[in-house]
Amino acid sequence: MRAIQYTKTMIDTKEQLMERLTLTADEEAFDYTDTATLPLKIPHHFMELIDADDPTDPLRRQVVPSVRESEREEMASLDPLAEVAHSNGGRLIHRYQSRAAFLTTDVCAIHCRHCFRRRFTSTAQGVASQEEIDAAARYVETHRQITELLFTGGDVLTIADKALEAMIRAFRERRPDLVIRLCTRVPAALPSRITDDLIAMIKRFDTAPFFVMVQFNHPRELTSEAIGAVARFIDNGIPAMNQTVLLRGVNDDVDVLQQLCNMLVFNRIKPYYLFQGDLVEGTAHLRVPIKRGLELEAELRKRLSGLAMPTYAVDLPQGGGKVPLTTNHLIKEVRQGVWEFRDFDGERRYYCDPPTDQSSSTPH
Ligand SMILES: *Cc1c(COP(=O)(O)O)cnc(C)c1O
Ligand code: SF4
Repeated sequence: MRAIQYTKTMIDTKEQLMERLTLTADEEAFDYTDTATLPLKIPHHFMELIDADDPTDPLRRQVVPSVRESEREEMASLDPLAEVAHSNGGRLIHRYQSRAAFLTTDVCAIHCRHCFRRRFTSTAQGVASQEEIDAAARYVETHRQITELLFTGGDVLTIADKALEAMIRAFRERRPDLVIRLCTRVPAALPSRITDDLIAMIKRFDTAPFFVMVQFNHPRELTSEAIGAVARFIDNGIPAMNQTVLLRGVNDDVDVLQQLCNMLVFNRIKPYYLFQGDLVEGTAHLRVPIKRGLELEAELRKRLSGLAMPTYAVDLPQGGGKVPLTTNHLIKEVRQGVWEFRDFDGERRYYCDPPTDQSSSTPH
């Protein structure tokens, strides 16, 4: 199986980059030939969105490498979520009861410097083999508690239509009821990839829903081409959800996040998660302290509708899983069945449980 070839559509050498941008000292000092790190890869579409005159451009920070990626931290690792330990059948990660993630390919249309799956992304393993697909599909067949499968990677939409069709078929033949999430940054990175043929192929698998899970981190990524690419899914009955990564110097600003979330809703994309950066080696300079993240979350909750508000969450290290991060409004149970809250203005409020129902209460 082959991935689509993007060679003519992207920037992947220092020389090509320097034709377009005057590199800062940190960008210049990055070792562009180091094969042990995530290589440079910026599709032309994304490159053209970067303001070449602004060395702090939020889109530039996501894709232009910095020597700061070689800073080492005590807590960070290449596999902070212990995905290797939770993997079943090689490419399948089954960490939560009802859903599993399948690493469809290690290829991406863009290389994000904040990538949390650096241990896997662009390691030249390519698209999952027929054996790996069959092993994962059999696992999902015998583990009926899995109701949703995430097609992730890498980026699933770098896989050519025919190969992707075979992959979907392998799972849906065994589990026609399986909800499939297509996790992809392609609409932001290379929107022209979302063709009518691709959508038509996916639509033919109509025994269960698909969801497209996109990643937009800044309002300027929502170009008319990107919006059009996502609209192709939505217009064909595939709902779109967005997962933003909270990134220093990119979107750690309440006005930017507010604008992003409102633009997403306006384009029928539900803001789903706002992720705290994972403890991945080489990404510390892009991470935001949790205290600041909680401040942003609280302010967003005031400004945004419930529909526009994503869940701020952190994926705990050592495979602890995703947990939501939010300002605690529930303070304590002051006496049995009486709960003390603090509202947004800091006022104390009390909520009382219903009187104990003898028939269903546990005896003490
Ligand atoms: C995030 C994640 C999921 C999906 O979690 P949701 O909260 O349902 O979006 C599933 N599997 C793995 C391994 C994940 O990291
Ligand atoms: S597209 Fe996703 S998997 Fe690929 S580099 Fe970006 S964040 Fe990582």
